[in-house]
Amino acid sequence: MPTRPCWVEISTRSLEDNYRFLQSLAAPSTELMAIVKANAYGHSLGLSAPAAARAGARWLGVTSVEEGAAARAVCPGSRIVVIGGVFPGQSPMVVEHGLTAVAWDLRQLDELEAAARESGVSPGALPIHLEIDTGMSRQGVAPGELGLILSRFGAGSLLRLEAVMTHLYASDEASGAATGRQLQQLNEALKRIEQATLPSWPGWLSVGASAALLGTEAATIADLARRWRLKTMLRPGLALYGIAPRFCPAFESGQEPPALVAARADLKPVLTWKTRVVSVRTVPAGAEIGYNGTFLATERMRLALLAVGYADGLDRRLGNRFSLLVRGERAPLVGRISMDQSVLDVTEIPGVEAGDEVVILGSQGTESISVFDHADAAGTIPWEVFTRIGPRVARIAVKSR
Ligand SMILES: *Cc1c(COP(=O)(O)O)cnc(C)c1O
Repeated sequence: MPTRPCWVEISTRSLEDNYRFLQSLAAPSTELMAIVKANAYGHSLGLSAPAAARAGARWLGVTSVEEGAAARAVCPGSRIVVIGGVFPGQSPMVVEHGLTAVAWDLRQLDELEAAARESGVSPGALPIHLEIDTGMSRQGVAPGELGLILSRFGAGSLLRLEAVMTHLYASDEASGAATGRQLQQLNEALKRIEQATLPSWPGWLSVGASAALLGTEAATIADLARRWRLKTMLRPGLALYGIAPRFCPAFESGQEPPALVAARADLKPVLTWKTRVVSVRTVPAGAEIGYNGTFLATERMRLALLAVGYADGLDRRLGNRFSLLVRGERAPLVGRISMDQSVLDVTEIPGVEAGDEVVILGSQGTESISVFDHADAAGTIPWEVFTRIGPRVARIAVKSR
């Protein structure tokens, strides 16, 4: 059935290529968990998780138990890790769908073990990724508070400490100072875990996202893991979707690590966001355009109405200050962006007519609009631009780019 013409095209092949490329950077010391949380950063969990698995990802990271169940439905053979916490009452679903919880407090561990007991599994059968708060002060247990937590993994427990995990909060900063402090805290936590003499030593050290993988920190993390006889896992999200994060100021002055610059050239953006021209009209000089007439036609102008608005995720702050692509050229957005519609000035672009394809984010001909262009214009970051593309925007798989 034809739908309202506002959609994103997902190149599953580019996503597969990105995963293989990132895994080749990480090999052989490190394995990757493909982060597909928040509906795969707006790229569709249903399309992206199977693509990552086809490319060789054995591990998928999702936000919630609900997303985990959805991922399980399309990826029956993958390890699926719930990184955003298991909430009260959700533990039976973790067991039922064969998910793996990131956990860090006693309530979570006790509920998870109770759910495991219900299902009659043997000791050590339920793997847990234990999150350490190494300085972000968000999720996780501080190294000094591990005592009681580790007691839950003792002999006879149904829980098994499979991975020790932390999240880096400043791996996009050139100095690496914050990451250095975090890795010291992680080392402290590992000492305490060693002292607890658990029935089995964990298999994995899970640290770091796209910036750590593409920056200079991956090798340091792998060294730490090796010292503790652990395998390294990194957890890229944004890079999987073809976008290399920007590093903080010192890196912008041409000081980026060569590996990051090279990676940026190799990664392929996965998502293209499109709409169509609904109608074209000509207005006289002085005509008011959109809510509150924030744009007055400077001359006789031709305007193209588009089927995209802020309810689709097109940031309202882009009105009067951004351009989209039509017929291979940039056309300015004029007037305020409405909930469901917006208007382009196509006076300078001959031949624009109803039905023409408009690129909101992505390439058309030789022009392109990047997720950074959107983020900069809206005062935000690529992650937010992607995840705000609304649920009513259809996600369509395309084979090539
Ligand atoms: C979102 C997230 C990631 C991925 O981050 P990117 O910067 O998109 O690569 C990795 N680990 C955790 C715990 C996360 O929440």
